[in-house]
Amino acid sequence: MRKKIIAANWKMNQTIADAASYLDSFLLEVADEKRIDIVIVPPFTALAYVSERLSKVQHVKSGAQNMHWEKNGAFTGEISAGMIRELFARYVVLGHSERRTLFGETDEIVNKKTKAAIAATLTPIVCIGETLAERDAGQVEQVLHTQLTGSLAGIPAKELADVVLAYEPVWAIGTGRTATPEQAQEAHAYIRKVLAEISDAATAEKVRIQYGGSVKPGNTGALMGQPDIDGALVGGASLVARDFAEIVKISA
Ligand code: PEP
Repeated sequence: MRKKIIAANWKMNQTIADAASYLDSFLLEVADEKRIDIVIVPPFTALAYVSERLSKVQHVKSGAQNMHWEKNGAFTGEISAGMIRELFARYVVLGHSERRTLFGETDEIVNKKTKAAIAATLTPIVCIGETLAERDAGQVEQVLHTQLTGSLAGIPAKELADVVLAYEPVWAIGTGRTATPEQAQEAHAYIRKVLAEISDAATAEKVRIQYGGSVKPGNTGALMGQPDIDGALVGGASLVARDFAEIVKISA
């Protein structure tokens, strides 16, 4: 049985003051939701604060939204995996579609980052997903196959088992348009099939695959009821503590 994992991607939102009042109510709301892993992914400026607050809560961890693959050096504006780990954050989101489309991240870059995250004992949440044009052209499987084999190249099965994947169809992110539970399940089942090809069936069964794309309290139940959907990566709806707590409770 895979334990569900629900993550809040705050993107470039929430000051430290916002995070403080959010956590005051959110942590009370989810105090009893211990059957599920919960991850808060704030902007870097609030990561130390959020990580410190969560250090006293077993089932809620923090994560970063990005990182550089090198340990240190002349990379102005970048943050390394070790720096994130120093804050006691446990996760890092890699290859989000906004990083891929707005900041030119390729599968090769995502692969380097994934390996560096694992080496620093951070759990990567690796995002993949097709655009609307690719879906309309019947290329969903081809796109997912390329992203998976590229982003996860050279990662041994033992380490791959602990990587979290997020299937996020680009056309569903921030658009209010969610994949139907059937569309999401179909993609997740395919992703698991590719994982078995690049590692083995037992490893593929262990990998947790989140769905992301306009997840809200109203559509969470049907999505989480699918056999290959193991959680959610939530953007917009995670900015309201009560909504995100509701998503967590429905998923648990
Ligand atoms: C995301 O950014 O990962 C995301 C899924 O956003 P939203 O929930 O707003 O679609």
